[in-house]
This record gives sequence, C-alpha cells and structure tokens, in this order.
Amino acid sequence: MSVLIYAENAAGKFKKSTFEAVSYAKAIADQAGTNLIAISIGNVAADDLAALGKYGAEKVLNVSNDKLKNFVNQAYASVIAEAAKAKGADIVVLSNSFSGRGLAPRIGVKLHAGVADGAVALPVLDGGKFTVKKTAFSGKAFATVELTSANKVIALTPNSYKVVESSAAGQVEDFTVETKESDFKAMIKDIVRSTDKVSLPDAEIVVSAGRGLKGPENWGMVEELAGLLGAATACSKPVSDAGWRPHSEHVGQTGIAVSPNLYIAIGISGAIQHLAGVSSSKVIVVINKDAEAPFFKVADYGIVGDAFEVLPKLIDAVKAYKA
Ligand code: FAD
Repeated sequence: MSVLIYAENAAGKFKKSTFEAVSYAKAIADQAGTNLIAISIGNVAADDLAALGKYGAEKVLNVSNDKLKNFVNQAYASVIAEAAKAKGADIVVLSNSFSGRGLAPRIGVKLHAGVADGAVALPVLDGGKFTVKKTAFSGKAFATVELTSANKVIALTPNSYKVVESSAAGQVEDFTVETKESDFKAMIKDIVRSTDKVSLPDAEIVVSAGRGLKGPENWGMVEELAGLLGAATACSKPVSDAGWRPHSEHVGQTGIAVSPNLYIAIGISGAIQHLAGVSSSKVIVVINKDAEAPFFKVADYGIVGDAFEVLPKLIDAVKAYKA
C-alpha cells in the first residue's frame, strides 16, 4: 500500500500547486502509515525531480518519453494508473488544475476508484470511513463525500493546503510504460504563450474588474495595481464578451475557476455565475459604488466607493508601502 502523487509540471518546471499537492499527499500517507511515491511525466531536470523529496516524496518515478512531452489527457491518465497498479498505490493524489480535472475521472475509471475532485482539506479517516471535504456546484458550496471504494483519487484545489517542507531529496527512478496508439487521438502539437504575465489559474493574487470600469480604456489602473502586487488580471464575462479584455481572463462558472490567496473585485456586481469561479479565494476584497452589490455578502473586506477615485488612491498607497 502506498500513496501516489502526480507531480504536474508546466514547461518542465513544477508549480507551487504541485508542491502543495505533494505536501498534502505526504500528510495522507502519514495518516495511513504508508509511504509517498511521486510520478512526473515530461522533461523535468533531475535536480527538480529529486527536490520533490523535500515535500515528502520518498521515491520519484520519472517518465520521460518524447510522445509524452506535452500533456495528453488519455495517455497521461493511462501512465498514472499503470504506475499506481505497479507500485500498489491505492490512493492517487493530483492537483485540481485544468489538466488535473481532466485526469482525475479518467484515472478513477481505470482504477475503479472513487473520485473526490476539488478537495479542500485532508481526508478524515474515522471508524473505517474515508471522507473528503470538497467544493460542489462550481464552488458555490462544500460537500463532504465518503469514498467507499478500495482505490481512491483525490484532486486538491490549488491554494487550499500549505506547502510543507519535510525530509531530504527523493530517490529518482526511471519508469517506463508501453503507450497505446489509442491514447493519442488528440495531441498538443505546439504551445504558444499569449502573454508573459502571471498565469491566472496559478496566481496567488488576482485583480479583477467588471462592467463598472465602463470601457477598455480604463484598464490601465487595473494593470498597474496588478503589476505592483505581482498579480494576474481577470474580468467578468460581459467584459470579455464585449471584447474589452481577452477571453483568457474571464472568470466564473463559464470561465476559469480561481482560488488565489487574494481576489480583488472592482466594479463587479457579484452575480452567482461570477462567484461560482472565485468564491474559494482565501480573502476577497470588493470595490463597488453600490453598497447593495451582492459581492459584498461574500467579501472579507469591502470598499463602497467609485473605482475611479478608489483605485488611484490604492495604487498610491501600495507604491508608498513598497517605497
Ligand atoms: P454588472 O452586473 O453590470 O455590474 C457592474 C457593477 O459595477 C455593479 O455592481 C455596479 O454597482 C458597479 N459599478 C458601476 N460603476 C462603478 C464605479 N464607477 N465604481 C465602482 N463600481 C461601479 N459572469 C461572469 O462574470 N462569469 C461567468 O462565468 C458567467 N457565466 C454565466 C453563465 C450563464 C449561463 C449566465 C446566464 C450568465 C453568466 N455570467 C457570468 C453573467 C453574470 O450573470 C453577470 O451578468 C455578470 O457577472 C455581470 O458582470 P459585471 O458584474 O461586470 O457587470
């Protein structure tokens, strides 16, 4: 028995959400009194693979196969499931990232495992029961699910578990899996980065704005605040529908779901479809001129005021703080 963590990388580098998931998987392994094995797919440097040991992975399986250089949902799911079988892992952990959300159910089918995606806390093992708290209804609620199957797949929501550094370097070993042609029906041929800015799904701080900003010409102050805070920029759906901002910034039920440590919402009403994608943020700050705006109900901090007056003051304050 062991726990297997899929250590996701982006262009050969592990992300913070991966370290969170390894730390989380280590805590599960400790709870179950077993060891933690990591699996990495793609071209990651040997030092970075071994560094997963710092977060608790005793062994790191390295799958470097040219066909698997870029993410292929079906093939990655097959490789991870095969590794779980080969190493006798009955719990597979991964990050509830864009790719993790595609992988979790596929691995679940292959291992006949119960799946808890969007997990936000460590499982509770009580009297033979294995329960996991997770987000439900696109983040509008939490559910506690019991996984009754022998095998289990858990996808951890980014920013919901802290990175814990524990033991020393992990022992890296090559792991080879025969790939099947049928796993490569859809493949990524090329990745073109549209921007060098902080990636929205991974951002720890997000500065987001809505129709209250009146037009695309007013986004300079949003960009400036985001730049000062090292934040990603985001927007509401009508803003991207109107072409004021790119669709890649649209958050919510029909856009990207984010869970940063800090979400600053400027001139956004807080419609339920918007909240669905942002409500698992740790701290929410709302700036809106309407004190009755629904967003204030879920805000940790609220500023009732005109964004065109509040934002310049906020920018000056951050500049003064950083000076
Ligand atoms: P508005 O609702 O127009 O709100 C603008 C806000 O700005 C108001 O609260 C106003 O008080 C404030 N304001 C105005 N001027 C100022 C000022 N000068 N200073 C400060 N505040 C000011 N929406 C999403 O965002 N994401 C989704 O994924 C999404 N999916 C949807 C799916 C479906 C099926 C449907 C039906 C809708 C979806 N929507 C989604 C749309 C959603 O219902 C709302 O219409 C939308 O979120 C509203 O965007 P907004 O808050 O920017 O604009």
